[in-house]
Formats: sequence, C-alpha cells, structure tokens
Amino acid sequence: MRVVFRGRRGISLWPTNDALTVVSLVFPPEEAPGPGRSAQAGFYASSLREVPEVEQALAGAELVSTPRAAAVRNARRRAHGPGWVLAGDAGHHKDPVSAQGISDAFADAAVLADALHAGLSGSAGLDEALAGYTATRDAQRLEAFAYTCEQAELRPFGADFLNDLARTAADEQAAQAFLNTFVGCDAPSDAGWLGDSH
Ligand SMILES: Cc1cc2nc3c(=O)[nH]c(=O)nc-3n(C[C@H](O)[C@H](O)[C@H](O)COP(=O)(O)OP(=O)(O)OC[C@H]3O[C@@H](n4cnc5c(N)ncnc54)[C@H](O)[C@@H]3O)c2cc1C
Repeated sequence: MRVVFRGRRGISLWPTNDALTVVSLVFPPEEAPGPGRSAQAGFYASSLREVPEVEQALAGAELVSTPRAAAVRNARRRAHGPGWVLAGDAGHHKDPVSAQGISDAFADAAVLADALHAGLSGSAGLDEALAGYTATRDAQRLEAFAYTCEQAELRPFGADFLNDLARTAADEQAAQAFLNTFVGCDAPSDAGWLGDSH
C-alpha cells in the first residue's frame, strides 16, 4: 500500500481483490466539493491528478466504480439505558483516520459479552454490569478519541514528526510498535516507537 499527503489531503492506494486497487482521498470539510455525484466525482479525479506520483501510479488505470463521499463525525454516546446497550461505532464513532474502529468494536463486544453474562446469569445486577461495561469502554477509549480528533484535523506533519517516522521505519521493532498504536492495539501513551513528537 502507499499513502501520500499533500497539504491537508491524503491519498491511499490499497491493493484489494481481483487485482483492483482502492484509492481513497481524505480532505478537510472546508475543501469539500458541492453536492451531487458528478461534483464529487470531478473533485476526486482532479485531486488525484494534482499529485504527480499518484497520477503516475494510476496511469492507464480504469475507474471501475463511482467514487462515494462521506462526512465522518466524531461522537461518543451514552452506552446503555433501560432495555438497550450500544457497542462499536453505534456508541463511539471516530474518524477512520486513526484506523481504530474495528479493534474498538471487537473490544467492546468482548467486554459487553462478559457484562451481559454477569447481568443475565444473576451474578450481578444487569444495570450494575452494564455500568461497568460503560466505565471500561470510556476508560479504554478516551485517550484514543482525543488522539483521533487531533489527527482528523489533517494538519500537515511537522519536521520533528517526519524525522521520528523515518527513524521508526528503519527499525523493525519500532515500526511494529507504531502500527500497534495506529490500529489501536496499544494506547498512544504506551507507544514504543521512536520519538515523542506525536
Ligand atoms: C472509509 C472508512 C475507512 C475505515 N478504515 C478503517 C481501518 O482501516 N481500520 C479500522 O479499524 N477501522 C476503519 N474504519 C472504521 C470501521 O469500519 C468501523 O469502526 C467498524 O466497522 C465498526 O464496527 P461496528 O460493528 O461497530 O459497526 P458496523 O461495521 O457499521 O456494523 C453495524 C451493522 O449493523 C447494521 N445495521 C444498522 N442498523 C440496523 C438495524 N436496524 N437492523 C439490523 N442491522 C442494522 C449495519 O448495516 C451494519 O452492517 C473505517 C471506516 C470508514 C468509513
């Protein structure tokens, strides 16, 4: 895969099924095109063309599906009430810029399953068990939520961060630690990758 940043825009090229490539474009809301599929498709195509290495990588490529756009909100909701409980994105929605939503949804499901078992088997009151689930969820997510909101501003990277990243990329263990943080397996404050510019 390849990720290219230009100003506050980011373009990723990911290999996927049937030798196709997913090409995603992220941009701040202020730069969003007008409404309508054709305005969005035009904005997408011209944004890719403006970056020479992306244009070169896509030379001769065929567009096989219509680009789709979405605005992503960061939101935390109350996790439970009488007769209902929320897990994953439904209760805690984050911009995908930090790639943590899948890990978080699995973590919620695991903690919630234990809480429901305790509440329904009678080893604890259901409300008390669900309140425990909510407290665990909030404690696990707050730091990453703040980190995600910061990343979602798509500010250009500073020289210190880029230096740290280059050193990290050259060290296999540090690179793994960076990825673990990026996908939410480790909290940002536990990060074992090189540098403290993040
Ligand atoms: C563009 C993009 C890129 C992303 N990239 C990453 C990434 O690289 N890494 C990462 O970890 N996360 C990423 N995410 C986030 C990740 O996809 C989500 O956080 C994750 O899928 C949340 O899982 P979930 O089970 O909570 O919700 P969902 O995956 O949304 O599942 C909820 C399901 O419930 C169904 N549903 C809704 N209402 C009803 C109803 N009334 N009855 C029955 N079914 C219903 C929906 O159709 C859906 O299938 C990305 C998200 C986006 C939008």
